[in-house]
Amino acid sequence: MTSYLFDAAYLIAAVLFILGLMALNSPKTARRGIFMAEIGMFMAVVGTLLRKEIVSFEWIIVGFIIGSLIGGAMAIWMPMTAMPQRIALSHSFGALAAALVGIVKYHEHAPNIDSALMAVVGFEVLLGSLTVTGSLMAFGKLQELIKGAPVVYKFQNISNIILFFGTVSLFIILIINPGLTALFYVIIAAGLLLGVLIVLPIGGADMPVVLALLNSYSGLAAAATGFAIDNKMLIIAGALDGASGFFLSMMMSKAMNRSFTNVLFGAVGSVKQNQAGEAGEKTVTSYTTEDVSYILENAQSVIIIPGYGMAVAQAQHVLQELASMLIARGTQVRYAIHPVAGRMPGHMNVLLAEANVPYDLLCEPDQINNDFPNTDVVIVVGANDVVNPAARYKKDSPLYGMPIFDADKARTIVILKRSLKAGFAGEDNELFYDKKTMMVFGDAKQSLMSLVQLLKENAPVLAN
Ligand code: NDP
Repeated sequence: MTSYLFDAAYLIAAVLFILGLMALNSPKTARRGIFMAEIGMFMAVVGTLLRKEIVSFEWIIVGFIIGSLIGGAMAIWMPMTAMPQRIALSHSFGALAAALVGIVKYHEHAPNIDSALMAVVGFEVLLGSLTVTGSLMAFGKLQELIKGAPVVYKFQNISNIILFFGTVSLFIILIINPGLTALFYVIIAAGLLLGVLIVLPIGGADMPVVLALLNSYSGLAAAATGFAIDNKMLIIAGALDGASGFFLSMMMSKAMNRSFTNVLFGAVGSVKQNQAGEAGEKTVTSYTTEDVSYILENAQSVIIIPGYGMAVAQAQHVLQELASMLIARGTQVRYAIHPVAGRMPGHMNVLLAEANVPYDLLCEPDQINNDFPNTDVVIVVGANDVVNPAARYKKDSPLYGMPIFDADKARTIVILKRSLKAGFAGEDNELFYDKKTMMVFGDAKQSLMSLVQLLKENAPVLAN
């Protein structure tokens, strides 16, 4: 009877995971997708606890309490802006669990471990250890604990490729001679080193691709754990995670005009890093929100480009209020959403959905880029890299080749940010010095609140 319940719980969990992933395809159904995946995970945990192999629940309860305390604290106290770092940490924890299970499994069977099990366990610990350090590096870069810019050195690509294939060769030797315990640990060390080296040259525009890839690796390590301990749920969930992360990273590379093979081997960042704020003698003109309100009152078309600064300022609600007021006046308003805006895939979509911005106002780059020359006003809300024209021509820039919004082609560009500082990629942005640009310095939420107030005062009837 228990075994039927166990199978049923796993089956329901697997179906819910697949339906949940499908629902994540659209912002409209994404919330439902997450909910289904949560119930799926609950069923998977219940199903696992029904397994007859469990001889004692004591350690499980201890793990449950410690895990819940850490997870609960992270959920309560980590700000939304730190979500990407939190995700990187979660990948690292998941991969660590997979690697540790692999080590235990190896010692349970070594030296008489058969080659098939060795292949599975080896894959698990190699991918697991690589993901542990890779994700910790990504965490460090996103949290600015270590230099976020690409770290590049001579012969980097070739040395990474040699290390990768060298490790694969040692792995094959281990499969043939599974009793070589020292070699098993050499492979773990090589995996840990590879994780660091693959993420070192990543920075700026390429971070999102590598985050999706690490997500995929931790899923594949979990799937290998499933094979090693004969758990079908882990195989299914790990394979889904691995495959979806892999497709996401391929789609992100395509959207960013990057070579996916280069990302795989950590060979993307071979560019000279520029110093932030290389402004030289250029001057910018600072405007007030009053100046901007006059321009907005006369605008017929407005495109809003949100970026990471909108998330920091938590400006999505007041931005939505401003957009609604303009729409009520008859202005055409759309939001331009860049695939890498913010610090995680879909970051802007999540925030704008929270503020009830209608989905049909959100446009991707290829839907909207041709419209900028005919647009009266572009409002850049805490975005920087995604509108940086250096991506088009500056070959030694970390942004070079990334498709950007052609904000500079609009009639007027309003930029809401606190200073002239560069964005995540560390590249100075010449758009700030453009004659058509109105820089409004200050926190984006404060500036938007002031704009809303001014529009209300100037046209109280329409605003209400
Ligand atoms: P950027 O990081 O390029 O720029 C954000 C800007 O927001 C900063 O220049 C900052 O300027 C401004 N800002 C910060 N706080 C505030 C505030 N309170 N009010 C107003 N402005 C503020 O953001 P983008 O969204 O344009 O680009 C995202 C970058 O992050 C890309 O390089 C992308 O590759 C990278 N990335 C993306 C990930 C993803 O998955 N989406 C993951 C990891 C990295 P100032 O300090 O002057 O206010």
